[in-house]
Amino acid sequence: MSHAILIIDDTTSVRQQILETLQDTDLFSGYFQAGNGLEGLKIMLNEKIDIVLCDVEMPGMDGFKFLTMVNAREDLQDIPVLLLTSHEAMETKVKGLEQGASDYVTKPFSPEELLARVKVHLKIKALQDDLRANNQLLQKLAQTDPLTELHNRRHMMETLEAEFDRSNRVASPFALLMIDLDHFKQVNDNYGHQLGDKVLQSIAWEIKGSLRQYDSAARFGGEEFALLLPETALKGAKLVAERLRQSINDIEFAGPLSGLKMTVSIGIATIPSDNVRSVSDLIRLADDALYAAKRNGRNRVENSIPA
Ligand code: GH3
Ligand code: MG
Ligand code: MG
Ligand code: MG
Repeated sequence: MSHAILIIDDTTSVRQQILETLQDTDLFSGYFQAGNGLEGLKIMLNEKIDIVLCDVEMPGMDGFKFLTMVNAREDLQDIPVLLLTSHEAMETKVKGLEQGASDYVTKPFSPEELLARVKVHLKIKALQDDLRANNQLLQKLAQTDPLTELHNRRHMMETLEAEFDRSNRVASPFALLMIDLDHFKQVNDNYGHQLGDKVLQSIAWEIKGSLRQYDSAARFGGEEFALLLPETALKGAKLVAERLRQSINDIEFAGPLSGLKMTVSIGIATIPSDNVRSVSDLIRLADDALYAAKRNGRNRVENSIPA
């Protein structure tokens, strides 16, 4: 196993006993020791620790203060801390648990009990880590369009609402680009739906490549994409849109799609604008600009004039 344990106790002989007990097992490959809470905290911040055994009474930072510090940090909160307490001190045990300790072991400890408790908490931590990883994966899946791996429409709407509020609050500009493939129906008709999907993926890839750090892109509908550009006024948005239009125009498809030329039409809407009071206003204006681009011949960028 590749777990790491941190043992915090001001008494060297106690640390040594614990170390010997644990080293008889194959539970850990990493052993760290500290003589007080502050030293322990430093180790926790620098090493990947899976579980902590911590004495209560220590000079400098004691066990309770240590627990308070650990629980104040989001990145450390989920690491189980087992307090090492003396036999009779019931109050200490209760206080420790209330302050966020996962469990306690009484000193002098029995090796069997120490091992049993350590194993239980390693197991709980492993289950919690799995659960968290699964939740993160689920959340990502719920936000992602499976074909293109861009954000899906729902997630884009949430981002738009948040960005819209933020832009209004701090009075900063922001741009929305609506991008629609030109004559995409013909691609499906000529090459079939599956190759049509490949084309959508290539376009999505190109869009992804055009993103700057705070931009975000989504598949907004079947063959329609949306690009959100925070801190970007019309002039900048036009540059981004024009560059993207050109790079999509330049895609060289290979294999069965070789020779295919794809173009997109792009509509831009920006805030601040007197015509935009809500996200739906903004989307409507970007859509209007998109349809103007279609009307005016496709493979082009149009914008709604900010009022
Ligand atoms: P325009 O230039 O006016 O936008 O013409 P268009 O052919 O792109 O527009 P239209 O809205 O008539 O057609 C969109 C096509 O996109 C029709 C639909 O079958 C296709 N489509 C939508 N979603 C998908 C998809 O997920 N995969 C594939 N292969 N095709 C899709
Ligand atoms: Mg002590
Ligand atoms: Mg289209
Ligand atoms: Mg369309």
